[in-house]
Amino acid sequence: METVQNSKQAINLENKYGAHNYHPLPVVLAKGEGVYVWDVEGKKYFDFLSAYSAVNQGHCHPRIVQALKDQAETLTLTSRAFYNDVLGMYEKYMTEYFGFDKILPMNTGAEAVETAIKICRKWAYERKGIPENEAKIIVCEDNFHGRTTTIISFSNDPVAKKNFGPYTKGFIKIPYNDIDALKAALAEENVAGFLVEPIQGEAGVYVPDSGYLTEADRLCKENNVLFIADEVQTGIARTGKLLACDHGNVKPDVLILGKAVSGGVYPVSAVLANDPIMEVIQPGQHGSTFGGNPLAAKVAIAALEVIKDEKLAENAQRLGEIFRERMSAFIETTDLITLVRGKGLLNAIVINDTEDSSTAWDICMALKENGLLAKPTHGNIIRFAPPLVMTEEQLHECCDIIEKTIREFAA
Ligand code: PLP
Repeated sequence: METVQNSKQAINLENKYGAHNYHPLPVVLAKGEGVYVWDVEGKKYFDFLSAYSAVNQGHCHPRIVQALKDQAETLTLTSRAFYNDVLGMYEKYMTEYFGFDKILPMNTGAEAVETAIKICRKWAYERKGIPENEAKIIVCEDNFHGRTTTIISFSNDPVAKKNFGPYTKGFIKIPYNDIDALKAALAEENVAGFLVEPIQGEAGVYVPDSGYLTEADRLCKENNVLFIADEVQTGIARTGKLLACDHGNVKPDVLILGKAVSGGVYPVSAVLANDPIMEVIQPGQHGSTFGGNPLAAKVAIAALEVIKDEKLAENAQRLGEIFRERMSAFIETTDLITLVRGKGLLNAIVINDTEDSSTAWDICMALKENGLLAKPTHGNIIRFAPPLVMTEEQLHECCDIIEKTIREFAA
């Protein structure tokens, strides 16, 4: 295979031969280490996206990469047609780590969400006694749970949804962070679950009021409705605790994980639940060729050990506070930014412009020139989510870059 010589060539290849289902910033990355990535021309950047919070442990973490290498030379995939000597150990590790009876291993976040929906519906019919095909799952407006046909059926993003119908039925949509709306929806007939992001990441890092998740969980329990937390983006120390639900002392009935479960080294996702829920799934009713393969299992164990051993939740919590403190002080000095919000190292700034403007994109282009990579979530919101292995000194350097860039941009 020929090798790419420069950024322009790489971009041209993607444009010509790849489906145009993404709109990347024009930077071509060739190497990553810790909080840094380098482009094809050798320019170094701070990564402030972390592959949408998949690379919480930093790029190419040596312990995770070593686990990958060791297992890759031993056994990679058996399928679930046979047992293997790693999966059971992985399942024990994961269930003890997160405090559930059982895990169902998958590969991507969207697959894990689909899995949770299937488990919830089956539980509704076989345990709760909802008449077949009548189960409803409550979801929130502006949600992002992935891109499968069922998941986009309950999205209200026209870009994700238009011309992909007919859509899957069985969802009730309510505003996010609205307990009264949840109460009203729970009063409807045949409600089986409430699927929610503890912080809405893709929507622009919307942090709900403190107490929202706790009360939502309580209401679900009161109504015998499964509280299903999608922690694909917020989980694995990103928000300053192992799970974002931990901030409200909420233990979901069904927990959905993805992304940083593997530190961005390999696609690994999972659904966790206790026996009365997970046992509704029997042989042949769900699965995936790659789900729970030995390579994924070993990589995930290493990635989760790194989270604990390097105290990444604590670091995210501490650095997040410093980041928001600096940004809050900075926005007093500029009209261009109206707000900074977030938890731990999942943060966003809101630009003083309309949603359909290109301002956030243009600022991200300027940040790129100054050595920091971030991506808008909407025309006027930029998410800042660096790897959690960042040091305080590096964070201050990044804040300097952001402030300088925005000052120059405003001028
Ligand atoms: N759920 C949430 C909350 C996400 O943020 C994402 C991806 O950004 C997904 C699910 C989908 O994950 P994947 O892209 O791995 O399918």
